[in-house]
Amino acid sequence: MRFQLKPLPYGFGALEPHLSSATLETHYTKHHAGYMEKLAKALESSPMAALDLEEIVMRSSKDAAQVTVFHNAAQVLNHDLYWASMTPGGGGVPSDAGLRAALDAAFGSFAEFREQFVKTAEDLFGSGWVWLVAHPEKPGTVAIEGMKDADNPILSGSRPLLACDVWEHAYYLDHRNERKKYAELFVDRLVDWKLAARQLAALASAPSHAEARMAKSA
Ligand code: MN
Repeated sequence: MRFQLKPLPYGFGALEPHLSSATLETHYTKHHAGYMEKLAKALESSPMAALDLEEIVMRSSKDAAQVTVFHNAAQVLNHDLYWASMTPGGGGVPSDAGLRAALDAAFGSFAEFREQFVKTAEDLFGSGWVWLVAHPEKPGTVAIEGMKDADNPILSGSRPLLACDVWEHAYYLDHRNERKKYAELFVDRLVDWKLAARQLAALASAPSHAEARMAKSA
């Protein structure tokens, strides 16, 4: 992989007033960039450096000696999706019919999805992430997963559609201890449903991740 951050998909102030320019600048240029710097250092003279980021995350997760690589690689990957998961003027009920149907099938209603997503963020103890995931072996189905620290749904075979960072650095400058309020703003004002809809549709029409892996290694 190239040890260079993906550009932020919008300006530092683009998500105001929900997330401030100061939060985005610090989060991207200090936290996200910091994980990338530490990853580059940890992979100096490692053959893993030639792999793509998801492969690095998968392989290092299975090797206790590679825990520093895992933490920093996973955090780079998680933040790449987090930035893409938000957009100025986002949030609210998704307009895509396929995604709405998947949310209704999994949660009964959009309101119930919203409540469970916010509650998962609120209840997650310590630092971590809330994900909307799809299960490749069950096309069109979605679920919410809360995960600690740097964990990513790919480790258990799910595909992440959206990521919400619930480490304190994501919201503390703007909302202090009010993680619930931040999670509500994420769903109501920030989330880029178009990204989730595109990914869900792509998964439904593509061979499953497991099949793709088998094809690659055959
Ligand atoms: Mn973060």
